[in-house]
Amino acid sequence: MNNFSPNMLKTFKECPKKYYYKYIEKISVPQKSTPFEKGKKVHALANYYLKGEDISKLEKVLTPDEAHAWNLLKSNEYFQKTYVNSEYNLSCKIGDFWVGGRIDALVKDGDDYYILDYKTGAVPQDPEHDYQTIVYLLAVSKFLKTCNSLTFVYIDLKNNMNHKIKFNKKDEYETELLKICTQITDMQNFPSNTNRCKYCEYNKFC
Ligand code: SF4
Repeated sequence: MNNFSPNMLKTFKECPKKYYYKYIEKISVPQKSTPFEKGKKVHALANYYLKGEDISKLEKVLTPDEAHAWNLLKSNEYFQKTYVNSEYNLSCKIGDFWVGGRIDALVKDGDDYYILDYKTGAVPQDPEHDYQTIVYLLAVSKFLKTCNSLTFVYIDLKNNMNHKIKFNKKDEYETELLKICTQITDMQNFPSNTNRCKYCEYNKFC
């Protein structure tokens, strides 16, 4: 397989064995649903809203917690910028590999572009080097071809904060992606990383 998403790369980095279970054997394990549901609802509402649809009925059935997150997003400064696209798949080629994923929203202010990613849960600990940041910045930069600036913005709805990463590491990012995609493709036996087992959804049978 030569197509990789940020989640695939993150999983491999976390534990190659987990990658094997999840993406090669395709074994799925149920996840806790509450935070997941909140995130799904906020993403869906944001997409309808940005596309100009009437969401008044949907807003009325939100729980207080969901409404709080949604109102924070709706009033976020980056959410007010000019809409370009939302919830769309974008990929780019790095060497022999395709990398890509689904972007929450792309907005702009003149020729300055912003990739928005809404987080109702945790924001990556090292956002600048997170595979989601790397993949989306590279994919959007290739898609836009020319722009004044490109910035990835994690909108942290838990803490009402924005985490911004400017796109200025193209070569470093491409080298990193080539390295990990090659590692995955060349791997024969997927080793365990036992430091991560405590929080792993596969630990019941691994
Ligand atoms: S239980 Fe541990 S070794 Fe097994 S897949 Fe999960 S993290 Fe990897």
